[in-house]
Amino acid sequence: MTIPDLTTLGRGVPGTTLGAGVPGTTLGAGVPGLPGAAPADMPRADAAPAVTTPAPAALPQPQPPGFSPEAARQDVPILHRTVNGHPLVWLDNGATTQKPRQVIEALGAFYGAANSNIHRGAHTMAREATQMYEAGRAAVAGFLGAGSPDDIVFVRGTTEAINLVAQSWGRANLGPGDDILVATLEHHSDIVPWQLIAKETRARVVPIPLTPEGAIDQDAYADLLSSRTQLVAVSHASNVLGTVPPVKEMTALAHRYGAKVLVDGAQAVAHFPVDVQDLDADFYAFSGHKLFAPTGIGALYAKPEILQGMRPWQGGGNMIDSVDFTRTTFAPVPHLLEAGTGHIAGVVGLLAALNWFTSFDRDAVAAYETALMTYAQQALATVPGLEVLGAAPERIAVLTFTLAGHDPAGVADWLDRDGIAVRAGHHCAQPALAHYGLESAARASLALYNTSEEVDLLVASLRRLQGA
Ligand code: PLP
Repeated sequence: MTIPDLTTLGRGVPGTTLGAGVPGTTLGAGVPGLPGAAPADMPRADAAPAVTTPAPAALPQPQPPGFSPEAARQDVPILHRTVNGHPLVWLDNGATTQKPRQVIEALGAFYGAANSNIHRGAHTMAREATQMYEAGRAAVAGFLGAGSPDDIVFVRGTTEAINLVAQSWGRANLGPGDDILVATLEHHSDIVPWQLIAKETRARVVPIPLTPEGAIDQDAYADLLSSRTQLVAVSHASNVLGTVPPVKEMTALAHRYGAKVLVDGAQAVAHFPVDVQDLDADFYAFSGHKLFAPTGIGALYAKPEILQGMRPWQGGGNMIDSVDFTRTTFAPVPHLLEAGTGHIAGVVGLLAALNWFTSFDRDAVAAYETALMTYAQQALATVPGLEVLGAAPERIAVLTFTLAGHDPAGVADWLDRDGIAVRAGHHCAQPALAHYGLESAARASLALYNTSEEVDLLVASLRRLQGA
């Protein structure tokens, strides 16, 4: 049996070309600003005198050989819309990434020509959908460097993956007096699940402190580890400080104490290559939507020997072998941990996203993003009163900042009028912001399709806000 080719599946299927012919679905119809003027009650940021961007023009352009952002941009339709009368500048990739047409078309093609439930071998389409789903699992395993597709559990996203580990592995392995070490820079979804399970098991959640630069304090970490430590929870990249901790070294140290290590890869996977076996991570979690795939799909990797011992955390269809009121037997992992109908189209979209993303030279992408970040740091330094949070030696292109005289929400609102999307708030990382005495900040988070021209637009708008 052949798996339908989703790159061609939608062709000729009515309605699977994005919006074509379907009343009201033409991209942008009815979306304010697409095209046209900003709403009457909203002052046009471009009504201010034109400003030529100063310093950035003199900065070296981030174009390392091997990757051009244009190659990625041309595939991502939303990047060509306007917002409030300006071309969209999407700098909110830390929240979610935009989707290439390959992903959008794969979703249309799946629903237009291949939709079926899976793992029920009743008919051809069920078998085809099952094959696509399992092809997605194999693709994720390959992407993460896992030894086998069986090491991958599909989940809704990073949050669900961490809750799964806390509820399944944590409930069975944590007890009174045990320590869960959690880095202070973690996203709330890598803090709260541990607090919940610690309360139930009477274990302790212990924060690992940060240095003033926003790196994880490695001396303090070494001091906190003990025979009580059962788990270390650490991000592969911080969503607010951009910090990329030395996860491989931290994992090796944790293992000396017999502790397991969960790595939150939500912000890492779209920025640099990941190899879970090289890291020796026990668990690794990510969300598809931060990796150019749809929302509602993500994956958890777990070492096979750990996964084999994990108990179900939810019960239902797909995770059983047979059900009887006297005795129920269970399916093997990873299906054991995937109760109910999964997000089949999401997996198809994730597969398309992985195919798209891995078609680029990953090292060249990482080098480009680092060059773009350096460019952005230098350009932002020309904005009076702007301070970037975090200066860890290894970091991704996440630039969280404060601007003297303006609250972060006001900054985001101002930029939005220029069509520039940044996030403002606590970024679900309140302890990381509290480390800097802050409750809120603005954040520009870059991806492979962002350009130095977009950074220039951000800087020009901020300079205008500061009257510079
Ligand atoms: N971990 C990190 C580092 C994140 O940045 C995020 C989302 O911003 C999450 C976890 C949670 O991801 P999701 O909401 O997709 O589950």
